[in-house]
This record gives sequence, C-alpha cells and structure tokens, in this order.
Amino acid sequence: MVVPFRHEPFTDFSLEENKKAQKEALHQVEQMLGKEYPLLIDGEEIYTDDKIVSTNPGNKEEVIGKVSKANKELAEKAIQSANEHFEWWRKSTAEMRADILFRTAAIVRRRRFEFNAWIIKEAGKPWKEADADIAEGIDFLEYYGRQMLEIDSGKGLDIVSRPIENNRFSYIPLGAGVVISPWNFLFAIMAGTAVSPMVTGNTVILKPASNTPVIAYKLMETLKEAGLPGGIINYLPGPGGEVGDYLVEHPKTRFVSFTGSREVGTRIFERAAVVQEGQEWLKRVVAEMGGKDTIIVDDNADLELAAESIVNSAFGFSGQKCSACSRVVAHEDVYDQLLDRCVELTKELDVGDPSEQNYYMGAVIDQASYDKILNYVEIGKEEGARLVHGGTGDDKNGFFIQPTIFADADPKSRIMQEEIFGPVVAFTKAKDFDEMLDIANNTEYGLTGAIISNNRTHIEMAKEDFHVGNLYINRGCTAAIVGYHPFGGFKMSGTDSKAGGPDYLNNFLQGKTISEMY
Ligand code: NAP
Repeated sequence: MVVPFRHEPFTDFSLEENKKAQKEALHQVEQMLGKEYPLLIDGEEIYTDDKIVSTNPGNKEEVIGKVSKANKELAEKAIQSANEHFEWWRKSTAEMRADILFRTAAIVRRRRFEFNAWIIKEAGKPWKEADADIAEGIDFLEYYGRQMLEIDSGKGLDIVSRPIENNRFSYIPLGAGVVISPWNFLFAIMAGTAVSPMVTGNTVILKPASNTPVIAYKLMETLKEAGLPGGIINYLPGPGGEVGDYLVEHPKTRFVSFTGSREVGTRIFERAAVVQEGQEWLKRVVAEMGGKDTIIVDDNADLELAAESIVNSAFGFSGQKCSACSRVVAHEDVYDQLLDRCVELTKELDVGDPSEQNYYMGAVIDQASYDKILNYVEIGKEEGARLVHGGTGDDKNGFFIQPTIFADADPKSRIMQEEIFGPVVAFTKAKDFDEMLDIANNTEYGLTGAIISNNRTHIEMAKEDFHVGNLYINRGCTAAIVGYHPFGGFKMSGTDSKAGGPDYLNNFLQGKTISEMY
C-alpha cells in the first residue's frame, strides 16, 4: 500500500533556517560547477569532443557544466538501444517501476536545497520558482507512480464475459519513444515527461533543452541510484534541429512527447505523421506548446486580488511560463484603477541574479530571448500601445529585463497575439463582459486563462465560453499543481494531454482485448 498522493509542500523562504540552507546549497553547488558530463546510451557513459556549454543566465561567465553533444550516429545508437531494452522492460512489473519513481522522489526530497540550487544556477530561477519547479517534479514522480499502480490493479477496466467466453481488457506499453523537453520547467517537465512513459513500460530517449542539460543529468544520476537499469531512459542532449529531427522521423520511434514552442511542436507533429519505410505503426504524438494567456477583470471584481494575480502571473520567472499572463482585458469602469495598482505593485519587484540573493525576478534565459523580448517592446510601441512601466534591459553580466507593462493595446495587435515569453504584459479595455470574452478568445492559443469577478452569471459564462484548457476563477493563471490542476491547452497550445491528470499515462499505453472461448 502506498500513502495517498499529497502535493509536495513549498519551502518558506521567510524562515531564516531555510534561507541559510538555500545559501549553503548554492555555495555547495558552486564547488561542483564546470564539470564535464557524458551522454548515457545503453547504460554506457559516452563523452564527445563537441560540448554544449551550459551557463548561468544571470551571470554569463559562470559555466554550469560542459555536456557531451549527440549527433545523428549517437541518436541512432540510442534508438537501437531503446528498442532492444523495450523487449524486456515491457514485461517488468508495474510495482517495480513505480517503486523506482517513489525512491527517486525520496532522494530528490532529501536533496531539495541542492536541486533548487542547480536550477537557480542553470536557468536563473528565483528561489521560490526553483523550489516550485522541484516540488512539481517530485509530485510528478509520486503521482505517476500511483497512477501506474492504479492502472495495473485493473480498477475501472471491467468488461463483460459470457458463460463460455472469458474477456479481458488491459493496457500495454507502446514501445521506444522520444521525449523532448523545454528549459523553462527544466526539472519538473523534463522529469515528468521522461518518467511517465518509463513507468508505463516504455523505453525512452530523453533530449533535454540545450540551455539546461545539467539538471537532466542530475535526474539520470538519481534514477540510477533509485535502481533504474541502464538503457531504459537514454540521455541524449544535442541540437534540436539535428538530433530532434532525426529522432522524430526515425521509423523505430513509436511515440514523441514534446513540450516547447508552437513552431517546433507543429514541425514535430507534421514530421511524425509521415510514415517512413519500414515503419510498422502510426506514431503517437503528445505536443504541449505555447500560450497567450489572458486575465479578465470584471467591473465588480476585487481589484486588489486582480492586481496581485496579474503581477504574479505576468512576472513570476520573468514571464517565461507557458501559462504566464501576457494579456489583461479589463472592464472600462475599473481599467484605470487596476492599471495604476498593477504599476504600483510592479515597481516593488526587484530584478537581479538569484544565485547572489533571493530577487523576485532573475534574468531571461539567453541572448536570443533577451533580443526577442526587447524587440517585442519596440513592436508594442510602434503598434501604438502606451508603455507605462519597464521596457528596458541590461545584458552586460546577465540577460536582465525590467518587468514591462503596456496599456491601451489593440486586441488584434502583435503584442496581444504572439507569445513573447518574457516579462511583458499588455492591457486592453472592454465595454461589457461579452466583449471581454471575445477578446480573451481571439488568439490562436488556448492554454490558461483567468477571470476575476464577483458576478456569478459572468463566471458561468466564462466556464462555458472561455476556451482554454485551464480556466481559473478568482486567482492568477499560473501555478498548476500536479493532481489538482491537470495541465494542457486547447487550439494551437497543444494536444491537451493534461500532464498531472488522472488519464495522462494513457498517452503512452494501448488497450489490448483478449477473448478466450472455453
Ligand atoms: P523550443 O525552442 O520549442 O524547444 C523545446 C525543445 O525542442 C528543446 O529541447 C529543443 O532543443 C527542441 N527542438 C528544437 N528544434 C527541434 C526540432 N526541429 N525537432 C525536435 N526538437 C527540437 O521551446 P523552449 O524555448 O525550450 O520552451 C519555451 C516554449 O515552450 C514556449 O513556447 C512555452 O510556452 C512552451 N512550453 C509549453 C508548456 C506546456 O505545457 N504547454 C510548458 C512549458 C513550455 P534545443 O534546446 O536543442 O533547441
């Protein structure tokens, strides 16, 4: 028996002992920076000459690690290995696989501050965000382990038999697949998407984001310590364009689980659909992609709650969350007051390298993001939106951008339609609730959204017509918790696979019916 799932508590950094522990862990991790890491294929450590150099976005000179870089030949080796290992792994017991997840969770929990420190360093996450990322990763391990045991128990899978005919229905794994993860939830999403196919009996090739490969290696070490045999999850960092395409198109790839941008996700979706010579299946594709998430503020809303929800959802981890609030649609009667309060709250946010101290906002991930975000600031100005806060950056030591607020944006303008993926939020006003809903729904994305309102009729309207995978009422639009808020988007935000939800593991399973006549 396992204890029921409860989500992992967050660390309270207002307590002196926790502050001290986090500082010590940062210091401890600093002694381990700059090491070289191998690929892991078939349980073998492979060092390549060519390396991915992972650096701290808040301190460009600080090298986190030098990670071996895969190419097509090594990708081929990983696919062969994953297919060979699938033949025995598919017959392993669900209980053993779940135990590996539970033990991994326990190890990460014991090393919580150290794991936090790795991602404070590698992604520039502020402490609170890093801690939430690790907590979410632990939750995925605990939740999917339990979910696998539930599926294995056969509960809810009853079908009907007849006196001389015995019928059984069960789920079996798919095969060897590819997991491609993003840098923004460098531990949680990477770990959750890597272990979910594994615990269901599949084998995996994990290609982490090139910006954050070191934390993925740390997970691999932990899984090994917890008893995962070599070759079940192969660790294959490498350039998305070269290695990613090769893995996705390979005829022996049975499934692809991707989390990242709309651009790359749609490319994967198209390429995986092409049946290659020698391919014996249609590939299963999970693609969780971008967002352009809106908070609606009604005329009778609690404006303090609205302002706090907007500022936290827009600027937590510098807006680099697929769920980040990048659009606000407010009723014209409360628009000015709400905007002023959001600017006031935003002025209180401090920006700096979180590996030095616990700033609210760190740097954005890299030079390309920095340039892209500031370019969107220029686009916003050219489109005629009014810049009321921020809009500047400093990339001397790290990629720092001030939290930025635009007012009076045209709902159809680019800053209101395209994913910026940085600390930029745009406000627009509407005359009534119908118009607010129309504007909220007028992008190609449908990931998260929130409504701040005390009008029950409007709340009910939003439940029916605000077309997003995760709708939140009287709270912000970020911070989904595993097992509590299954996560995934509609429209061009993805396949709505609902990570951390009760049927997520079915993405990596196929149903088998066996009927025996006596
Ligand atoms: P990205 O640029 O799409 O990269 C994601 C992953 O895809 C990386 O591992 C990347 O490798 C790889 N990749 C790049 N080109 C590829 C190709 N041709 N074939 C296969 N793989 C390829 O996204 P990101 O910048 O890491 O992450 C930010 C995006 O993710 C945002 O759009 C955000 O909204 C989205 N996101 C969505 C969710 C969700 O649940 N819906 C959650 C988190 C993030 P390299 O790093 O080597 O390029």
